[in-house]
Amino acid sequence: MIKTDAMVIGGGPAGSTVAALLAEKGHRVMLLEKARFPRYHVGESLMPFCWFTLDRLGLAGRMDEVGYQQKKSVQFATTDGRISAPFYFFQHLDHPAATTWQVERSEFDAMLLDNARAKGVDVREDTTVLDFVKQGERVTGVRARTGDGDPFEVEAALTLDCTGRDALFQRKHGWRRRDPKLNKVSIWTLFRGAKRDPGLDEGATTIAYLPEGGWFWNIPLRGDIVSSGIVAERDYLYRDTRDPAEIYFREIENNAWIKEHLGEGEQFGEYWVAGEYSYRAEHCATDGLVLVGDAFAFLDPVFSSGVFLAFKSAEMAADAADAALGSGDTRAVAFADYGEKLCEHIETMRRIVYAFYDPDFSFGKLIRKHPDLRPKLTDLLIGNLEERDFADLTRAIDELAELPEPLDYGRVPAGV
Ligand SMILES: Cc1cc2nc3c(=O)[nH]c(=O)nc-3n(C[C@H](O)[C@H](O)[C@H](O)COP(=O)(O)OP(=O)(O)OC[C@H]3O[C@@H](n4cnc5c(N)ncnc54)[C@H](O)[C@@H]3O)c2cc1C
Repeated sequence: MIKTDAMVIGGGPAGSTVAALLAEKGHRVMLLEKARFPRYHVGESLMPFCWFTLDRLGLAGRMDEVGYQQKKSVQFATTDGRISAPFYFFQHLDHPAATTWQVERSEFDAMLLDNARAKGVDVREDTTVLDFVKQGERVTGVRARTGDGDPFEVEAALTLDCTGRDALFQRKHGWRRRDPKLNKVSIWTLFRGAKRDPGLDEGATTIAYLPEGGWFWNIPLRGDIVSSGIVAERDYLYRDTRDPAEIYFREIENNAWIKEHLGEGEQFGEYWVAGEYSYRAEHCATDGLVLVGDAFAFLDPVFSSGVFLAFKSAEMAADAADAALGSGDTRAVAFADYGEKLCEHIETMRRIVYAFYDPDFSFGKLIRKHPDLRPKLTDLLIGNLEERDFADLTRAIDELAELPEPLDYGRVPAGV
């Protein structure tokens, strides 16, 4: 039987980050990852405030050395091809974080995992966690299998589920609760040789609208590659075919900006599809276990918040876990503040996602009505959630869009 302090399942941004930070604090950390890196992963567009986690990990300086495409703004394109005034991050933020990146996740995630390894984490790739070991309701470790099929068990004071959208604990315990409204389908692929905008806008993320609340993302990567995806309602996407390539080329015709840009390029590789879009777990922790990143919650990626929230939750979970391991008490209650704060951050992002899908809302309308709120809106779009009170922005958005009530789940179980 292997024994460790912290057992991290999954080596994506959440797992690598929480593992590295706990190892830095002197804990024994093991990380099991089912894939062999580098492996493909969607989610290439970072938010500016990812910089602070990368800096804490000692990696901010490496990003430009690797040569990832710099991203300085986000812009929106109407169906007839008109582009909004871009939100340039540097107009709002006088800090290196104002330039962020579009990353190939294969390389980016491998860099994060190597960093965890360098900090002393016992990383084992090609190793799948099959189940949790429990004493009563308390999680005491995991049951896993190597790529060669050899089974083994690990006993841990704390297990951190960072399994992404596979969400191992959530699925095994029926803890997944879908967002009542945000249930879209996404199809995405890659293009080579597509048109790129010049200068500052070369690396911009473009959100290009489709009819009936759908949209395209256009994420220029290094070299000549563009990550391109569609997010829309299931009935809209599958209205006349289920063939992803046919759907793709049909929808390109529905946005003039996308047609102009992708029209010059050539699609290559797979089409990927994801459903079951936005969800949150019933709870963020149970005794001996905490959920981090997408293994806890996933929010529609229209504002590229996924890696940022994975980083944020990993940092917060690492701080709470460090205290819990230090005190020898890793019951769920140790993660009460973690759950509270993380749900608050997710709700802040979730409101703006709901507004985006409201046909009566547009950023242009909001800014014309409340020009003074542009900096706050930009704070939200760059991930500056920590020190800001968004009540006035929420009230202003509420005048234009129907906003959701906060979800009443995701905290630690009551009475712990
Ligand atoms: C269509 C789409 C578009 C997106 N676009 C963006 C974007 O532009 N920007 C952005 O920031 N985010 C985006 N996201 C979200 C982003 O991909 C995720 O939020 C982010 O990857 C979460 O990181 P994570 O570490 O929690 O999970 P992941 O990155 O998914 O990592 C989980 C890891 O766990 C491993 N694992 C799973 N099960 C097991 C197991 N049983 N045993 C061992 N290992 C296991 C997996 O192999 C994986 O490596 C997008 C998501 C989707 C679906």
